[in-house]
Amino acid sequence: IDEEKWIEADSVIISTGASAKWLGIESEQRLNGYGVSACAVCDGFFFKGKEVAIVGAGDTAAEEALYLSKICSQVHMIVRRDEMRASKVMQERVKNTANIKIYWNSETDEVIGDKNVSAVRIKNNKTGEKQEIPVSAFFVAIGHQPNSDIFKGWLDMDEAGYIKTIPGSSKTNIEGVFASGDVQDKIYRQAVTAAGSGCMAALDAERYLGEKGLH
Ligand SMILES: Cc1cc2nc3c(=O)[nH]c(=O)nc-3n(C[C@H](O)[C@H](O)[C@H](O)COP(=O)(O)OP(=O)(O)OC[C@H]3O[C@@H](n4cnc5c(N)ncnc54)[C@H](O)[C@@H]3O)c2cc1C
Repeated sequence: IDEEKWIEADSVIISTGASAKWLGIESEQRLNGYGVSACAVCDGFFFKGKEVAIVGAGDTAAEEALYLSKICSQVHMIVRRDEMRASKVMQERVKNTANIKIYWNSETDEVIGDKNVSAVRIKNNKTGEKQEIPVSAFFVAIGHQPNSDIFKGWLDMDEAGYIKTIPGSSKTNIEGVFASGDVQDKIYRQAVTAAGSGCMAALDAERYLGEKGLH
């Protein structure tokens, strides 16, 4: 642990989570938790009836924009290129939603606000033109990175780095090693599902130790 402490165990449960990817601009971090969020389904409800912005163009961003469109009065979707990475079906759903406005070829210049988000300034990367959009929240939906790097080469993972578990269990490809929570769940990534799979891992580990006569 931390390159300092060595712990030997008969069984291990990995629950290192997944970290949201951020744009990396100063104002985004300063206002994180004050209108800036990386989870629309978690925090969207706080902005019921308000105008919000979301950045991203993949399936998750499209799904979150659609979710927000049902709660918020207007969703401003900032897309870096002139097309989206999301599946065609999701793109069509986004484009056909009246209160989602897409800003193509646009990048976030700054999230504006003193104590809370009050606007976002975007820049058109083709024309260089900047514009300020008044919003109460700014959602970042550009992906997550599972915290699984240290297990690479040991545990089976999918192409994005999420640890693979045997369906219906928390078992990994190594006997006695279990995974739970966001590090093995790219679909739900919620506290309640993480806690549920944590319980599964605890029971799986206990059974494993019992079967081996280790406790
Ligand atoms: C802004 C936001 C709001 C959210 N709101 C909600 C909500 O309202 N409802 C809901 O259900 N979910 C919500 N979620 C999702 C929820 O927080 C996660 O799904 C949940 O915390 C996942 O639990 P976890 O234990 O898998 O990972 P985490 O809670 O991320 O915990 C992982 C832990 O592992 C540690 N770690 C990582 N790498 C290492 C390492 N190499 N060595 C040692 N330790 C390590 C980390 O420091 C961290 O403490 C929200 C998420 C975000 C980002």
